[in-house]
This record gives sequence, structure tokens and C-alpha cells, in this order.
Amino acid sequence: MTIVKGKPMEKWIREFPDLGPILNYTPFYWSNPGVKDNKEALQDQPLQLKDMKDAEERLKRFAPFIAKAYPETEKDRGIIESPLIEGNQIKARIETITGQKIPGAFYIKLDSHLPISGSIKARGGIYEVLKYAETLLQEHHLLSETDDYSKMTEATYREFFSQYTILVGSTGNLGLSIGVISAKLGFQVIVHMSADAKQWKKDLLRSRGVQVMEHPSDYSKAVEEGRKEAENDSKSYFIDDENSKDLFLGYTVAAIRLKKQFEEREIQVSPEKPLHVYLPCGVGGGPGGVAFGLKVIFGDAVKCYFAEPTHSPCMLVGMMTGLHNEISVNDFGLDNQTAADGLAVGRPSGFVGKVMEPLLEGIYTVSDEQMFRLIAEMADAEGIHLEPSAVTGLMGPSYVVQNELKVTDGDTHLIWATGGSMVPGDIQEAEYQKGLEYKNNPDIR
Ligand SMILES: *Cc1c(COP(=O)(O)O)cnc(C)c1O
Repeated sequence: MTIVKGKPMEKWIREFPDLGPILNYTPFYWSNPGVKDNKEALQDQPLQLKDMKDAEERLKRFAPFIAKAYPETEKDRGIIESPLIEGNQIKARIETITGQKIPGAFYIKLDSHLPISGSIKARGGIYEVLKYAETLLQEHHLLSETDDYSKMTEATYREFFSQYTILVGSTGNLGLSIGVISAKLGFQVIVHMSADAKQWKKDLLRSRGVQVMEHPSDYSKAVEEGRKEAENDSKSYFIDDENSKDLFLGYTVAAIRLKKQFEEREIQVSPEKPLHVYLPCGVGGGPGGVAFGLKVIFGDAVKCYFAEPTHSPCMLVGMMTGLHNEISVNDFGLDNQTAADGLAVGRPSGFVGKVMEPLLEGIYTVSDEQMFRLIAEMADAEGIHLEPSAVTGLMGPSYVVQNELKVTDGDTHLIWATGGSMVPGDIQEAEYQKGLEYKNNPDIR
């Protein structure tokens, strides 16, 4: 008999019958019974709108530096933001595959094409490094908020930052974004990578002068190593993907920017015409930050859903049982093995899980076969390559139409496509070819 956290498995399944399919790796939609109306849900939260605005202002202060350091961002004046596109071709394909009509408009937010690091991590990861850089300079009286921050591209600043080391544990993309921006500023950087991190991400980091430490075990261990190394060293700064509020705040700014994009496009959102947002979830900071920001900005008119791999449903298991970071998918016998490296996380962030508990409508799981198929579908339908993690959002609308009350033509679906533009060409091609094998397989729904 298997005992999990002192309780026999049979008892767990009796208490949470939804665990049955989840523990069989069956794609599944879980409707969150803990969701509350916005006013109640946002009361007593550790972060507020003013914190989001503070983060947005900080990113504006850094914009002249970003524009100078990364000329590709010049046209957006150093603001790191991604395009919003309509996805009618892929929507039609998904309707055919699932046999489920999806009422409402269908948009895709291409964080896969965020400048600098090509994933959603360009929001939180870069923000936290910039904040640390600003804090250090202010402590040493080398910067005031009214300065032109583009001066940080000068050698004296790089020299100053080179006394400090930034550490992070990552499944790939967080390390990529933190490594790239930290090295640009002149910091020493050490990225602890878990076993599932892709080789090309390690190679790219090393080519930028980042020290990459490889760990044969999973992501939580990589994080632990980074945390341990930074302890007791005032010149080392550990970016904590599981607990960092700065990282989370960097992600929330997406909501303020999205509101502007919606206004420009005249996309209407109201309680009568709700916006459904589908976010791929690993440890939780990225999707949690974006979702939290959206709830603050759009209130009850926005409904958020997380997507996880069938092999790594950590936020689902944590939120369903209420145990959050006290339980891992491995405790329940799941293997945490998935091609979706950004989502290959066995234990969720406790901080994010608790923040999201009253704010999240549901969580669903996606199999690796579905992901590869969606990569091929997306490439054929929209001409865009996404990485396995990033396509999981696409399965959401069909689930929501089936499981939640009344979705109408006035609704808007927004798929958050979290990464993929930096995947090297030969690997894109291999992922696409693998997807083609599944594309016409009727067994993969
Ligand atoms: C990291 C990542 C996510 C999820 O973000 P978390 O903060 O780990 O939950 C989703 N998609 C991609 C491509 C990622 O790299």
C-alpha cells in the first residue's frame, strides 16, 4: 500500500476523486472550487496595484539602457513587450481536432517573441536583475532615479557590477533570461541547470560568458544549489524562482501593457464579455504574476486558467490538496518527465499557489503527444514556432467551453504563448517533424 504524507493512496483518491485520472497521466480539466469574486480574492494579498505600478515605472527608467544595450528594442524605445495576434486558423484546427466549437474571439500573446530572451522569463527574470542593479547603484550613491540609465552601458558600471555574482536555479528559460541580462550589465553569473534543461540553452549561455552548472537531478535541486551558494555572501544575490516577489512583480506588468494593446485593438472586455486567459505553468511565478496582474486590472471580467504537463501537474496537485509546496508530483508517484522543459517542475511555489487559490478558475493538463501535435498545427496554421511548454495554452478553450458555464461569441480567449522564437532552427525542425507524426493520429485528442 502506498502511503503519501501519512495517508494511504486509497484515502487520497476518495477525498480527491479527480486525482484518479491525474495519477494515470490522463489529460484532465480541474475546476477550482476555491475561486472567489475579485473583491474578496484581492483583499489581504501581499501585493497591490501600487507595487505593479512601481515595477512598471522602474522598467520605464531602464528603457533607455535596454534600448542602447539591445538595439532590437529601439523601435519600442527599450520597452520589452510582445505582439498580440489573432489566431483564427489555429482556432479552426483545434475545433476540428477536439470536435468542440469555441465561441468567441481567439487571440495569442506572443511572449515567445519577447526581445532579449524569447520567453515569458524576459518579463520577471530581467526585471529582478534590473532592480538589483538599481538598488546596488543607489546604495553606493552612483545613481539617482532621474538619471539617464543608458549610462549603465559604460565600462565603469560594468566594472562595478563585476564585483557581484548573481545565482539562479532553472529548467532553462529563467537561466537564459537572467544569464543574458546579468552578463550584459557586467555581473558574474552562475546558472544551476536541471537535467531537463536543453543543451542549446546551456550552450547559448556559455557563449555569453555565463557559468553553467549542470545537475543530474530535477529543478528543485538546481534551485537548492543556487540558494546554498549565495548564503553568507553579501556580494552574491540569489534569484529565487519559488519565492521571489520581485520576479512575480516583473510578470504582473504584462497586464498593464495588455490593457493598452486591447484598447488599441478595440477588444472589449467586461463581465458580460469576459476574457479567458490560458497560461502555461511551471513553478508558478510567470503565469501567477501575469494572472494576478490581469485580475487587478480587469477584475471579474477576466478568468484565468493554468496549463500543466500530464507528467508535472505540480500546481494542480498542490492547489487541489491545499498542500501547495509541501507536496510534489513525485510523492504521488508521477515521474515529472516531460519535453516541456519550462514546465518540468515537481513542486510548485507555495507563495504563488496561495496567492492564486482564490483567483484561478481552473487548471488543465496536456500530454507530451498533444504538445508536439500542437507545435506542428501551430506552425502549419499560423507559421509560428512555439516550444513544447508554450503550446499548452492552446488546449484550454475547448476545456472551458465544455466545463464552465456559457461561453458566447462575445467572449475573448487569449492563449499565452510563452516561448519558442530562440529555439535553434534544426531543433525547431525536429520538433515540427515529431509533431507531424502525431498530427493525423486520431488517438491524440
Ligand atoms: C518558465 C516557463 C513557463 C512557466 O513559468 P513558471 O514561472 O515556471 O511557472 C511557461 N512557459 C515557458 C516557455 C517557460 O519557460
